[in-house]
Amino acid sequence: MTEVYDLHSHSTASDGALTPTELIKRASEQGVTSLALTDHDTINGLSEAQLACQTHSVNLIPGIEISTTWEKKCFHIVGLNIDPNNQLLTSGIQQLQQQRSQRAQKIAEKLEKKKIPNVYSSVVKAANGGMITRSHFADYLYTNNYVNSQQEAFDRYLGQGKPAYVSTIWADLQDAIHWIRSAGGVAIIAHPMRYNITQSWMKRFLTFFKQNGGEGIEVITGRSSHDEIQRSLSYAFKYELLASVGSDFHSPANQWVELGRLATLPKTIKPVWEVF
Ligand code: AMP
Ligand code: MN
Ligand code: MN
Ligand code: MN
Repeated sequence: MTEVYDLHSHSTASDGALTPTELIKRASEQGVTSLALTDHDTINGLSEAQLACQTHSVNLIPGIEISTTWEKKCFHIVGLNIDPNNQLLTSGIQQLQQQRSQRAQKIAEKLEKKKIPNVYSSVVKAANGGMITRSHFADYLYTNNYVNSQQEAFDRYLGQGKPAYVSTIWADLQDAIHWIRSAGGVAIIAHPMRYNITQSWMKRFLTFFKQNGGEGIEVITGRSSHDEIQRSLSYAFKYELLASVGSDFHSPANQWVELGRLATLPKTIKPVWEVF
């Protein structure tokens, strides 16, 4: 049987549209054999996902996507094959969970000043106990006709430098890598092409990441172009990083991204699953 890996996805434990059970079912239907659930700053979806795997014959790779700050810039670090019971990891992410909640209140206050009232209670309700992300705000603005698309919500309100943007210092990059490694996992740079930084900053970042125990990079993500794959691949070779593949699936409503629908990893690079 051919293995189909998808090592980056979200559930309702953060900003995904599907419950962990629904996500696993969909992964199975899409022919995914190994799925990593990597919710933003939480591992709360993992136990339900693990249970669902028993009925849908999918192999769950326990994961997380940690929000980090390095040199005042935000980077997402995916931890794969982690032990969800590891104390250092669970206590480390607690701070991030508090920050998310506090940031959500501040974003709501800023929206209030833009004559968009009562957002906080609505996003809390929508998140239903999961992590509150800017996606929840984008959804609210879209469904209540303040904007014509989620993208417009980021462009007009939520994106960096926009009126409802709240600058946040997330986990220290070194700490996040340390938590992941302590939990027996592998630290991976998520969607390397999505950071708006220069080549030289990217090189500094890759050097720092590697020197501090980072071991992998996403070479293929949901919407990578051929050129983006080539550039990510060259980083993997140059910095001796393992290659990961992940759709970053959030919702069936996004027709451009599907679980397991990913380009094939070139045979020349070592895939991260060889070390699981
Ligand atoms: P947060 O971590 O709360 O800042 O939210 C980040 C999440 O918002 C990402 O994981 C994406 O799901 C989503 N997101 C960020 N930027 C955009 C954008 N420009 N358009 C649509 N969704 C975005
Ligand atoms: Mn997200
Ligand atoms: Mn991300
Ligand atoms: Mn993600």
